[in-house]
Amino acid sequence: MQDSPTIDLTAIRDGIASGALGAERTCAAMLDAADRHNPLLNAYHETFREHAIAAARKVDEDARAGRPLPPLAGVPIAVKDNVATRLGRTTCSSRMLESYRSPFDATAVERLVAAGAIVVGKTNLDEFAMGSSGEHCKWGPVRNPWDPTRVPGGSSAGSAAAVAAGLCAAAIGSDTGGSIRQPASFTGIVGLKPTYGRISRWGLVAFGSSLDQIGPMTRSVRDAALLLDAMSGVDEHDSTTADLPPTALAATVERPLEGLRVGIPRQYVSDANDPEVNAAVQAAADAYRAMGATIVDADLPLTDVGISTYYVIAPAEASSNLARYDGIRYGHRAQLKPGEDLFTLYARSRSEGFGPEVQRRIMLGTYMLSSGYYDAYYKRALQVRRRIKEEFDRAFASCDVLLGPTAPTPAFGFGANADPLAMYLCDVYTVNTNIAGICGISLPAGTAVRDGKRLPVGIQLQANAFEEERLFRAARMLERALAPVNAAHAPVVRA
Ligand code: GLN
Repeated sequence: MQDSPTIDLTAIRDGIASGALGAERTCAAMLDAADRHNPLLNAYHETFREHAIAAARKVDEDARAGRPLPPLAGVPIAVKDNVATRLGRTTCSSRMLESYRSPFDATAVERLVAAGAIVVGKTNLDEFAMGSSGEHCKWGPVRNPWDPTRVPGGSSAGSAAAVAAGLCAAAIGSDTGGSIRQPASFTGIVGLKPTYGRISRWGLVAFGSSLDQIGPMTRSVRDAALLLDAMSGVDEHDSTTADLPPTALAATVERPLEGLRVGIPRQYVSDANDPEVNAAVQAAADAYRAMGATIVDADLPLTDVGISTYYVIAPAEASSNLARYDGIRYGHRAQLKPGEDLFTLYARSRSEGFGPEVQRRIMLGTYMLSSGYYDAYYKRALQVRRRIKEEFDRAFASCDVLLGPTAPTPAFGFGANADPLAMYLCDVYTVNTNIAGICGISLPAGTAVRDGKRLPVGIQLQANAFEEERLFRAARMLERALAPVNAAHAPVVRA
């Protein structure tokens, strides 16, 4: 791809289909790169070389025989390890599910595979997708390919690192409060949180069921469009999917929007952000203006309240979703000594199986759902949630997309946000997208220098529910305008 610093999935797909790139060669090269760089990055906890090479060979045979190829034929894809795959294990980077093997593929995976994609491995995450740094994985922290002394963001840490370092063509992540977009911004890639209901959650291990969405993590906007097209659409296994056909964004993504109105909420450009983050938002606004778009002021006074709302709703839903891991029905089972009872088995299995952050969320959630506190916390949070949604509806009445930072800072160092509250604040610009059920995309928008190293800075575009077509066309315009800036630098660790 001409205006992308690295070859993207679309270019790989075209190369495979035309015979210019062999599927087997491409797959082997990425798996070799994974073998070389994974000991440092820790992006994958498992790769599937034998399976992937056999599948790629079949694509090359079909191409040689002139048989029609499906739209993603031969492209190597990594899958976050809270998304069920029949291949390998589905562990959520937790001791609780350390040896769990799924008997089925998640709908999103099944659809990608049906479209010809090849699953090359499972990527590390913050345990059960709770975290913003990639530091809380059973298999140790994931490292940022731009500066391995820093975090890649989370919770889709391994997926982000693998895409940025070229260890796959694209990856699947999940986003409950920012877990696709924030690591995308920390690693210089594109990450989409689709509208709630756009992609089936069947096979995504539940964290906050009213917030969770699967989404693509890619090296270009057009790649994200292609993957959303392949994964989206109603699914009989998930009653929360919208009754809509799959998107067809690849066909429209290159078309700039006439008369585009871009809103910048005043709350998004804050002194609490690092200066390069505010500068990136400004540069994006200037680029839009130069393309003829109108920049309008927007007002989202409930922006700050999002964090407290999210950190009530998400732990409450998590405490209920994670109740099933009791050592009997699912998950790690502790050893009992003779005479110890069932309660001890539950308590010990859960204490041994879950890490500290997951236990914190379960306790918070259980407390907030308990009688006497339910109204004060959970019910209140649901009321604020409605207000946040109404606030977005008002903002979108006068603009097509909202522009702002994805995260207040670029990638931070290991241990820098060891205080859980400091870590939660990293999500200030992402959680409201999930709370309101709308869509948001993070795009690379230049770099900042920290300790002499280049780090990517991301910006986020948000659009109202089911307005992905507008979101993607606006995102592609900006990607094209920022291409020279983004092509100037690349990760230090890459294939
Ligand atoms: N960082 C947020 C959390 O810790 C979001 C996680 C996510 O989107 N899965 O809950």
